[in-house]
Amino acid sequence: MSKKIILFILFIILVFIAMGVYFLVHQYFNPGRWLKISAWMRDPQAHPEWSVTAGQRCGDAPFLIPTDGLIGYLWADSFRPGHHHQGIDIFAGTPAGQTRVLVAYDGFLTRLPDWKSSLIIRIPHDPLQPDRQIWTYYTHLADGEGNSLISAEYPPGTQEVFVKAGTLLGYQGDYSGDPDNPVGVHLHFSIVKDDGSGHFLNELKIANTLDPSPYFLLSVNARDFRGDFPSCTSVP
Ligand SMILES: [Zn+2]
Repeated sequence: MSKKIILFILFIILVFIAMGVYFLVHQYFNPGRWLKISAWMRDPQAHPEWSVTAGQRCGDAPFLIPTDGLIGYLWADSFRPGHHHQGIDIFAGTPAGQTRVLVAYDGFLTRLPDWKSSLIIRIPHDPLQPDRQIWTYYTHLADGEGNSLISAEYPPGTQEVFVKAGTLLGYQGDYSGDPDNPVGVHLHFSIVKDDGSGHFLNELKIANTLDPSPYFLLSVNARDFRGDFPSCTSVP
């Protein structure tokens, strides 16, 4: 083979590698949005237009917005190949323990005995499909070391306590499950399907969750959303 042909083949291989890297960076890391989230965390006052507010309701949506901050990561966002985010992440832009987390919709609260930072609320009748039961899952309510920021009224082992929309659950934190690796202070909120016999399904699988957009009347599905960050004006 002549040198020219070898160089040409190498060139083609390099072009393909470059295209692959470009695709991965855009698809899985979305540097534009990530940079904006970091800018928000450093100085939330600079971009009040990116923020949603705890207790706010978009139009006549069934769910209240559960906390203050920027909806940085959406449902179905992908952080790495093969992964899809099962909920929405709302970043306070404050230190852990300061930004309130409220109940989005009436239901029955459970906190498993080993849950430091998580709560789940059973909603017997899905407001959009009343013949089925759904669950709302709230997590990252602990500081980086794993000290819980959940209200003292809901200790580990709490079962089936009725809570009304707007009730204080606790505060946003940065606990990731690994004290050496805290995340940015935020609330992760997701809507989890029922297994049909009264138990919630594994919320780590996107197939077990629902797109929260119609519940908030807010465009939070990464497959559809275009723009900076969702707000009440970005109706699905
Ligand atoms: Zn999340």
